[in-house]
Amino acid sequence: MQTYVLDKSNYVSSMDHCTKWYPSFKEGKVYIEEYQYIAEIYAMEEGVEWKDKDGEELISGYLKNVFGKLFYPNAQNLNMVYSTVQKWKDFMAQVDSVQKETWETALRLFLDRKNGWILADFETWMMTLTAQHLYSYLNEKEANGDPLLNPNTDCICPRCQTKSHFGLLQKDEGYRQLECWLCGYQWMTERIRCPYCNEKSQKLLGFFEVEGIPGARVHFCKSCDQYVKVFDFREIEGFKPVVLLYHLATLTLDDIAVKEGFVPGSGLVWDERFMEGQKMKV
Ligand SMILES: [Zn+2]
Ligand SMILES: [Zn+2]
Repeated sequence: MQTYVLDKSNYVSSMDHCTKWYPSFKEGKVYIEEYQYIAEIYAMEEGVEWKDKDGEELISGYLKNVFGKLFYPNAQNLNMVYSTVQKWKDFMAQVDSVQKETWETALRLFLDRKNGWILADFETWMMTLTAQHLYSYLNEKEANGDPLLNPNTDCICPRCQTKSHFGLLQKDEGYRQLECWLCGYQWMTERIRCPYCNEKSQKLLGFFEVEGIPGARVHFCKSCDQYVKVFDFREIEGFKPVVLLYHLATLTLDDIAVKEGFVPGSGLVWDERFMEGQKMKV
């Protein structure tokens, strides 16, 4: 059974690439490498029991055993792990039984910034990695196949119903491949259409790039003011990146998108200033 959090086949080349292109990724890289090591051991030792746990136990156990170990040397980070565990427990005690029927549904609600639980990038970072690992382990994730054969018109993952946050440009003009941050599924959407509100007017859709963050773009929509982050590696023949890694290596771009006045269509918070802004408006 696969226990990997990130796709091993392209992991090394993606990691090297991210380190070369995004110098600020250095610290993140160390954490991701150590995280994978700890998470894989935890899955080997306790994974068989995951199936019998409810959502509250499953996720709080994972956070404590994996991120608790990872951040053990750093008291401040460790406190944040434990406060996130407490928040998750409080959240699960409040939501109704329908909403917590599956842990994926509950986690989506928990992570949606509109619901006010998540306040820091750090929490989204931990929860995203947790979700990918648990999902792939518990569902014995089948291969994606060719994303071109998975057409869809919008941002909702056809496999687990989560709203996408990032994607990849395809050689085939007019298409954009979106990827699910929770289950890793990939599908195709039209490039000239907002995946969140379906706006098709070229006047209202656009993108920008930022110097120093190569290969990444913010596709925005002026109709709903939301954005999706898109990577462009079309020039590197045959390269299949682990897109989640690139996303984690370029969170600065999310900060900039938010500063430009757009909100992430996925509902994931990747910027603390955004929440501060929200608070100020209240
Ligand atoms: Zn999904
Ligand atoms: Zn839109």
